[in-house]
Amino acid sequence: MHNIFVNDFSNHIAIIGAGISGLALGCILKAAGFRVVIFEKAKDISEEGAGISISPNGTNILKLIGIYDELKYRSSNPLKALHYDNHNNIISSFTVDVLTTSRQTLYKVLLEQYLSNNGDIYFEHELIEIDESCCELKFLNNDTYKVLHVAACDGINSFCRKKILPNDNPIYSGYSVWRTILNMRSEEIKTFLGPKHHIVAYPINEAQTSLVAAIKTDKKYKESWRTKGTLDELKKDLVISKSDLILKLDDSTDFYKWGVYTRPSLKTLYSKNITLLGDAAHPIVPFIGQGGCLALEDAYLFGKLIISSDMEFSIAQKNYQKIRMPRIKKIKALSERQGHLNHISNKLISLTRNFIMRHMQFIAMRDIKKVWEYDIDNEIYKIK
Ligand SMILES: Cc1cc2nc3c(=O)[nH]c(=O)nc-3n(C[C@H](O)[C@H](O)[C@H](O)COP(=O)(O)OP(=O)(O)OC[C@H]3O[C@@H](n4cnc5c(N)ncnc54)[C@H](O)[C@@H]3O)c2cc1C
Repeated sequence: MHNIFVNDFSNHIAIIGAGISGLALGCILKAAGFRVVIFEKAKDISEEGAGISISPNGTNILKLIGIYDELKYRSSNPLKALHYDNHNNIISSFTVDVLTTSRQTLYKVLLEQYLSNNGDIYFEHELIEIDESCCELKFLNNDTYKVLHVAACDGINSFCRKKILPNDNPIYSGYSVWRTILNMRSEEIKTFLGPKHHIVAYPINEAQTSLVAAIKTDKKYKESWRTKGTLDELKKDLVISKSDLILKLDDSTDFYKWGVYTRPSLKTLYSKNITLLGDAAHPIVPFIGQGGCLALEDAYLFGKLIISSDMEFSIAQKNYQKIRMPRIKKIKALSERQGHLNHISNKLISLTRNFIMRHMQFIAMRDIKKVWEYDIDNEIYKIK
């Protein structure tokens, strides 16, 4: 790199990306008194109009970070999840304990916590060059920083990952989703299962409901939170849906379309001074709502390992990888399996699925419950 002036942050851990994993890691490290700086390419943390559900393994991390109560206050906490068939008949009903919220609210609460510990954050800093060994970072605005270690929390299109694996690109999963926020109150999580599509609706606060409709399609929509579509297009994509929710939609709200992309599984989660977290490490299809929860778990674990090793990054990286790999593999496989189950088009097979969900809930929920009950502190304890 040919720079005239390099900002010396060489005793700081640099976090690239102020998304879920980046902000959570910042909170954990700052609370322990470590020197941290977050670089985010956007102007602010806004992520309009999208909902997110956080299951108990994720809310456990929010509790450990100390923001659970605040987030719960600004969000929803539905206690029941209902599944319907394509004719609006209830297939199953079970008890849940998840937080459902808007992404913007989640980011805001994380950022407030980070800032309350005097965390440094630089917006409009898009990383465009990185020297893995000596940890020099260059940004689009021409600023250059020397840092101690890089936590790559820069999402599915991670620049840091590209640096480590130049030929590894996002792959279209075969699914696209439509999403919108409805100005309507709701109490429960409702999932409508239809052939080649499914629809999920849940409250994100007292007055609004997030609606996501996933379709199995060869049309490759762009991977973006901001690509707008129209109600007509949505209805064409969901022509097979008989869900009340879709039939009653009007065009008073904004509709967004999103292509779901993944990446090949990694053999390693780090290289030299760069460690990958969240979607930068393991983007998965969103059908059991775990991408954000995994990002929280990654952040908590890597943060705790940095703290316990007193910044011996090579030890922290090794243990991080050892603990995360089996968990990521398991959740990736379960998410993909759920994608198949949610989009069954064969009538007989879908009736069998519905029968199992209705009468053998312990089978349908067994694996998901295990995911939710994950004890991350116990995993850390086991490697000691
Ligand atoms: C439709 C859909 C529904 C989902 N629903 C759920 C759900 O209900 N529950 C759940 O747990 N998960 C869900 N997920 C998954 C979840 O959204 C992601 O897994 C999660 O956001 C990943 O967090 P992250 O911190 O890795 O990345 P992100 O939250 O994507 O953050 C990455 C950040 O890095 C920044 N950045 C990128 N490149 C650079 C750069 N070069 N320099 C500086 N900054 C950069 C970005 O601007 C962004 O702020 C869903 C995903 C989709 C697509």
